[in-house]
Amino acid sequence: MSLPSTEPPRSCDLAVVGAGLTGLACGVVGARRGFSVAVLEAGRVGAGSSGRTGGVVLEETAAGPLEGVTACLPALGQTVRALGIECDLRIGGCWELVHKADRESGEPGWMDGGKRVVVGEVVPGGTLDPGRLLSGLARAVIDAGGSIVEGSAVRAIHPGPPVTLELSRGTLVAQHVVLALNAFTQNLVPELEEIHPALTLALCTEPLDPETISAIGLGQGTPFYTADLPYLWGSPLPDGRVIFGSGLAFDPSDDLSRIDVREGDAAAVLGSLEERVRRLHPLLVDVRISTRWGGPVAFSRDRRPFLAPLTRAPHVLVTGAYAGHGIALGVRIGELAAEWIAGEVQLPPWAQEV
Ligand SMILES: Cc1cc2nc3c(=O)[nH]c(=O)nc-3n(C[C@H](O)[C@H](O)[C@H](O)COP(=O)(O)OP(=O)(O)OC[C@H]3O[C@@H](n4cnc5c(N)ncnc54)[C@H](O)[C@@H]3O)c2cc1C
Repeated sequence: MSLPSTEPPRSCDLAVVGAGLTGLACGVVGARRGFSVAVLEAGRVGAGSSGRTGGVVLEETAAGPLEGVTACLPALGQTVRALGIECDLRIGGCWELVHKADRESGEPGWMDGGKRVVVGEVVPGGTLDPGRLLSGLARAVIDAGGSIVEGSAVRAIHPGPPVTLELSRGTLVAQHVVLALNAFTQNLVPELEEIHPALTLALCTEPLDPETISAIGLGQGTPFYTADLPYLWGSPLPDGRVIFGSGLAFDPSDDLSRIDVREGDAAAVLGSLEERVRRLHPLLVDVRISTRWGGPVAFSRDRRPFLAPLTRAPHVLVTGAYAGHGIALGVRIGELAAEWIAGEVQLPPWAQEV
């Protein structure tokens, strides 16, 4: 979607930094509660992880169930219904695949590193069109009276209260700030060394015909990830393309913008992912890969996400570190952040000051 070009306001009740799924979901709830809301985005809506994501929706967190975020999938369903977002959300389960001895049988029956890959368990999950979810949330922010200011990077935070944000274009004074920066958090909060950014890699095949999709075991349209190593995740798309993803690339100074997926380690990881995909099934040997990309993800040490006020700036809430598990969780955490600011909920016990 194209947004009306907007100048940042001089002041607002709630400034949300980052227009990915977390920031937009937070902006929607804040604006619907009557706060004046500005969502500030350095690039364009979805410029970070949310615009490069795989579209597999998963329950809970990468660290398992945590109080307050145990029902992210029903919450996501409720959000898209309440906002009328048509993002093709299908919650029909997700395959947890495991590597077994070659003689084992079962779907999808791929070969990976000399082992058979079969379904170990079907876990809560599903798929959606992330682009449509993003644009639907952005539209809902604006419909509720909030503004989204693209091309407006936050350069520094002065704790206040009220909090003053130095922007690439002017300054903004806000009663509350939610940082929805995920892998870019440390650019603004360098003391948060617990958040580790990385680029995760993915590729997408050309559209495959329905017979091929069925023959490679993906006829039910179920997304998947391996529960054991080596890690592989993926999802068949409604138009016959199939996404596969695996592997991480790092920058020594944690500046992901310095990584070019056509060169160095990132290119090598993509190359081995492509070779691996071709060996999964005889019908994939000559498959044409139409797109290869990387996107930012962030990890905490124990894989728990962040939803925490900053010790040095208690009116600034930090979110993120979803460990590649942030579609349903990111939306839920963005909503919880705004609900907490509105005084409607307590922060969960795992959400300590940072
Ligand atoms: C390839 C890939 C596949 C994935 N697949 C899945 C999947 O299938 N399922 C799943 O659950 N999760 C998946 N994830 C993870 C998921 O996409 C993320 O966890 C989620 O999108 C994070 O959303 P976010 O809004 O917190 O962060 P982001 O979408 O990264 O948003 C942060 C925003 O902040 C902006 N920004 C940065 N610095 C500044 C600044 N100084 N001032 C203003 N704005 C700034 C950025 O431009 C960006 O738009 C995947 C991620 C990748 C990269």
